[in-house]
Amino acid sequence: MKHDLKILPEYFVEVLRGNKTFEVRKDDRSYNVGDEIVLHEYICGKYTERTMSVIITYILRNPDYCKDGYCIIGFKQYGEWKEIEEQGGWGDTFYRCSVCNEEWLLNDGKPKDNNMNFCPQCGSRMGGDKNEQSSYSDSWHSLPDSSR
Ligand SMILES: [Zn+2]
Repeated sequence: MKHDLKILPEYFVEVLRGNKTFEVRKDDRSYNVGDEIVLHEYICGKYTERTMSVIITYILRNPDYCKDGYCIIGFKQYGEWKEIEEQGGWGDTFYRCSVCNEEWLLNDGKPKDNNMNFCPQCGSRMGGDKNEQSSYSDSWHSLPDSSR
Protein backbone atom coordinates (compact mmCIF):
# COMPACT_ATOMS: atom_id res chain seq x y z
CA MET A 1 0.00 0.00 0.00
CA LYS A 2 1.16 3.52 -0.76
CA HIS A 3 0.58 6.56 1.45
CA ASP A 4 1.01 10.12 0.21
CA LEU A 5 1.86 12.49 3.04
CA LYS A 6 2.62 16.17 3.31
CA ILE A 7 5.80 17.21 5.06
CA LEU A 8 7.27 20.59 5.99
CA PRO A 9 10.61 21.57 4.41
CA GLU A 10 12.48 21.60 7.73
CA TYR A 11 11.61 17.92 8.23
CA PHE A 12 11.83 16.95 4.58
CA VAL A 13 15.45 18.06 4.39
CA GLU A 14 16.38 15.99 7.42
CA VAL A 15 14.73 12.92 5.92
CA LEU A 16 16.65 13.50 2.68
CA ARG A 17 19.89 13.70 4.60
CA GLY A 18 19.11 10.44 6.31
CA ASN A 19 19.01 12.01 9.78
CA LYS A 20 15.29 11.69 10.37
CA THR A 21 14.05 8.13 9.97
CA PHE A 22 10.69 8.36 11.71
CA GLU A 23 7.42 10.22 11.53
CA VAL A 24 4.86 10.91 14.24
CA ARG A 25 1.52 10.83 12.50
CA LYS A 26 -2.19 10.62 13.18
CA ASP A 27 -3.00 6.94 12.95
CA ASP A 28 -5.87 7.55 10.56
CA ARG A 29 -4.73 5.34 7.71
CA SER A 30 -3.96 1.67 7.80
CA TYR A 31 -0.20 1.96 7.98
CA ASN A 32 1.60 -1.36 7.76
CA VAL A 33 5.20 -2.41 7.88
CA GLY A 34 6.43 -2.75 4.30
CA ASP A 35 4.16 0.02 2.99
CA GLU A 36 5.59 2.82 0.92
CA ILE A 37 5.29 6.42 2.06
CA VAL A 38 5.72 9.18 -0.48
CA LEU A 39 6.64 12.39 1.31
CA HIS A 40 5.57 15.53 -0.53
CA GLU A 41 7.29 18.69 0.56
CA TYR A 42 4.62 21.23 1.46
CA ILE A 43 4.84 24.86 2.49
CA CYS A 44 2.31 27.71 2.87
CA GLY A 45 -0.54 25.64 1.45
CA LYS A 46 1.41 24.55 -1.61
CA TYR A 47 3.35 21.52 -2.73
CA THR A 48 6.90 22.06 -3.88
CA GLU A 49 8.29 19.82 -6.63
CA ARG A 50 10.19 17.66 -4.20
CA THR A 51 9.05 14.20 -3.19
CA MET A 52 10.76 11.23 -1.69
CA SER A 53 9.80 7.60 -1.18
CA VAL A 54 10.53 5.62 1.95
CA ILE A 55 9.50 2.23 3.21
CA ILE A 56 7.92 1.54 6.63
CA THR A 57 10.07 -0.67 8.83
CA TYR A 58 8.38 -0.29 12.22
CA ILE A 59 5.18 1.13 13.71
CA LEU A 60 4.75 1.98 17.39
CA ARG A 61 1.12 2.19 18.57
CA ASN A 62 1.66 1.83 22.30
CA PRO A 63 -0.63 4.39 24.01
CA ASP A 64 1.88 4.73 26.84
CA TYR A 65 4.28 6.42 24.43
CA CYS A 66 2.10 7.83 21.65
CA LYS A 67 -0.17 10.83 21.92
CA ASP A 68 -3.83 9.87 21.69
CA GLY A 69 -4.65 8.68 18.16
CA TYR A 70 -1.08 9.00 16.94
CA CYS A 71 1.54 6.45 15.98
CA ILE A 72 5.27 6.59 15.47
CA ILE A 73 6.46 5.25 12.15
CA GLY A 74 10.04 4.19 11.56
CA PHE A 75 11.20 3.99 7.97
CA LYS A 76 14.11 3.42 5.67
CA GLN A 77 15.05 5.30 2.57
CA TYR A 78 14.97 3.62 -0.74
CA GLY A 79 18.53 2.99 -1.80
CA GLU A 80 19.90 3.25 -5.29
CA TRP A 81 22.52 1.23 -7.12
CA LYS A 82 25.28 3.48 -8.42
CA GLU A 83 27.25 2.05 -11.26
CA ILE A 84 30.99 2.38 -10.76
CA GLU A 85 33.44 2.48 -13.63
CA GLU A 86 35.08 -0.73 -14.61
CA GLN A 87 38.12 -1.58 -12.62
CA GLY A 88 40.73 -3.70 -14.35
CA GLY A 89 39.03 -3.67 -17.70
CA TRP A 90 37.71 -7.22 -17.58
CA GLY A 91 34.17 -6.13 -18.29
CA ASP A 92 33.16 -6.48 -14.66
CA THR A 93 31.02 -3.76 -13.19
CA PHE A 94 30.75 -2.71 -9.61
CA TYR A 95 27.58 -1.36 -8.07
CA ARG A 96 27.60 0.67 -4.90
CA CYS A 97 24.70 0.84 -2.48
CA SER A 98 23.80 4.51 -1.91
CA VAL A 99 22.79 3.77 1.67
CA CYS A 100 25.69 1.76 3.14
CA ASN A 101 28.27 2.30 0.33
CA GLU A 102 29.03 -1.42 0.11
CA GLU A 103 30.27 -2.37 -3.38
CA TRP A 104 29.17 -5.45 -5.24
CA LEU A 105 30.83 -6.98 -8.25
CA LEU A 106 28.45 -8.22 -10.88
CA ASN A 107 29.82 -10.33 -13.69
CA ASP A 108 26.66 -10.27 -15.66
CA GLY A 109 23.79 -7.85 -16.00
CA LYS A 110 22.50 -5.15 -13.73
CA PRO A 111 21.45 -5.53 -10.07
CA LYS A 112 17.84 -5.88 -11.22
CA ASP A 113 18.81 -8.83 -13.45
CA ASN A 114 20.42 -10.44 -10.41
CA ASN A 115 17.33 -10.03 -8.23
CA MET A 116 19.11 -7.51 -6.05
CA ASN A 117 16.05 -5.51 -5.09
CA PHE A 118 17.45 -5.28 -1.60
CA CYS A 119 21.02 -4.51 -0.60
CA PRO A 120 22.49 -7.76 0.82
CA GLN A 121 24.59 -5.72 3.27
CA CYS A 122 22.19 -3.23 4.85
CA GLY A 123 18.88 -4.62 3.65
CA SER A 124 17.74 -1.35 2.07
CA ARG A 125 15.07 -1.64 -0.52
CA MET A 126 16.42 -0.45 -3.83
CA GLY A 127 14.47 2.06 -5.94
CA GLY A 128 11.81 0.69 -8.19
CA ASP A 129 11.04 2.17 -11.59
CA LYS A 130 12.92 4.94 -13.32
CA ASN A 131 10.50 7.71 -12.29
CA GLU A 132 10.92 6.89 -8.65
CA GLN A 133 14.67 6.97 -8.94
CA SER A 134 14.81 10.24 -10.80
CA SER A 135 12.56 12.06 -8.35
CA TYR A 136 14.75 10.69 -5.60
CA SER A 137 17.99 11.91 -7.11
CA ASP A 138 16.56 15.22 -8.29
CA SER A 139 15.50 16.04 -4.78
CA TRP A 140 18.88 15.02 -3.51
CA HIS A 141 20.73 17.32 -5.89
CA SER A 142 18.52 20.32 -5.30
CA LEU A 143 19.24 20.39 -1.58
CA PRO A 144 20.03 24.05 -0.85
CA ASP A 145 22.95 23.47 1.47
CA SER A 146 23.88 19.86 1.02
CA SER A 147 26.86 19.01 3.17
CA ARG A 148 27.17 15.62 1.54
ZN1 LIG B 1 23.48 -1.24 1.46
